[in-house]
This record gives sequence, C-alpha cells and structure tokens, in this order.
Amino acid sequence: MARTQGHGNPDWTRDETILALDLYFDLNGKIPSGSDERVRALSDVLRRFPYHAGASKKESFRNPDGVAFKLQNLRQIATGKGLGNVSETDRKVWSEFGTSPAQVKSMANLIRAGVVASEVAKPEMLDFEFAEGRVITELHSRREREPKLRQRLLSSRRASGKLFCEMCGAPPRSTNAEFEDAHFEAHHIIPLSSTGERTTRLSGLALLCANCHRLLHRAIAIEKRWLTVAEGRAMFGISSSN
Ligand SMILES: [Zn+2]
Ligand SMILES: [Zn+2]
Repeated sequence: MARTQGHGNPDWTRDETILALDLYFDLNGKIPSGSDERVRALSDVLRRFPYHAGASKKESFRNPDGVAFKLQNLRQIATGKGLGNVSETDRKVWSEFGTSPAQVKSMANLIRAGVVASEVAKPEMLDFEFAEGRVITELHSRREREPKLRQRLLSSRRASGKLFCEMCGAPPRSTNAEFEDAHFEAHHIIPLSSTGERTTRLSGLALLCANCHRLLHRAIAIEKRWLTVAEGRAMFGISSSN
C-alpha cells in the first residue's frame, strides 16, 4: 500500500493529536497497522471532524495508515528514539499530557462528543429554514454569527446609549462589561436573498436578545415569510413601549 503520511493534507491539530495520544495510551506502546479496528475507528472520527472540510474529502486524509503513522510519531517522542518526523504539535501535546493518560482520556471523550454534537446540530437548522430555502438559511445564520458584524453592531448601539433588545426591550441582566453583551445577537432585518449585497450594513441589523432572536426565526419559518421585528413583537404580545 502507498505511503499515506498526508502529503498535501493539513497538519494534525491539537484536538486530533490528543485523540491519537489517547489511542496510543490504550495500546500500551504497541502500534498496530492501519488494518487494526481501533486505528480504523479513530480514522473514522477524524474524517468526520467539522474542520478540514475540503481536505477530508480526499481519500488520503487521516486514513488508517496515516493514523498508524501518527501513533508511531507519538511513540518516537515517548521513547526518544528516531525523532525525525515528529511535529511541533506532537511535542507540545506530549509535553503537556505525556504523563497524564487519565486526563487525556477525559479530554478525548469530550472531543469525540463535540464531533457528534456538531453533526447533530445540523438538523436544528431546519427549525429556522426560511421560505428562501436551505442555502439562504445557512448563509443567513452564518452571517448573523460573524463575530465582527456583531461587534460592530454592539459598539454602534453602545455609542448611542445603553444596550437593550430591540424586540422585547430587555436590558442586559448584568451591566458588568464582561457579561453585558453575552445576551445579544445580530439579526438581519432584510432577508439576504432580497438585498443581493455581499456586505452587511449596520442599518440592516437589529440587536436582539437570544430568546427573541430564536422566537422570531421560528415565527419566520412557520409563516414562511420575513417578519419585521414589530410584527414579531405583535405576534408574541410584547408591547412596544418596553
Ligand atoms: Zn428580546
Ligand atoms: Zn436573525
């Protein structure tokens, strides 16, 4: 079989290396080949990771032979023999966790749970699917989550007074600077499909508390048309004097 040590594949990340180290500890220093069931299982998890989306379509990406190779790298560090192919991340992860198999196990469990969670999180999008369809819905949600956009909106609202939800009027529960903005999300007033713009203007955004934002998106999905913040307010019986 061809050598598969990821030519053209992205470097292993810290999370991935922790998963490999977890398996390394389980194996008690014996490195099996790529046909081993445990090696295959890890390859499977790594190929489902939410990042490296493009690379993971390549057959060579984190395939069982690549995983076995990584285990050999880790053994090289553990034993100090033949350190030729060892990466900086391998070294760092080993120096942090090389003597703590139990900690590695619990972190690896969390990481694996995270991979599963990121997969099951997808159908949730259907709750928010707009009349424009799935692609627009995903694009919309992604744009609304852009940290820079939200930060710009927050600073513009701060400059003109105190923060509050533009649907229910709720102020932040804490005025401590470290917490006060955690409440709020950016919402597009105009559906992306009708603007055709590639950049978002602040005037097209409303600052909503996370609760109102979810309710409004659910209402939009149910009504299959774009609702204004005022319509959302009316629908949920929130008085505008709030
Ligand atoms: Zn609100
Ligand atoms: Zn929104």
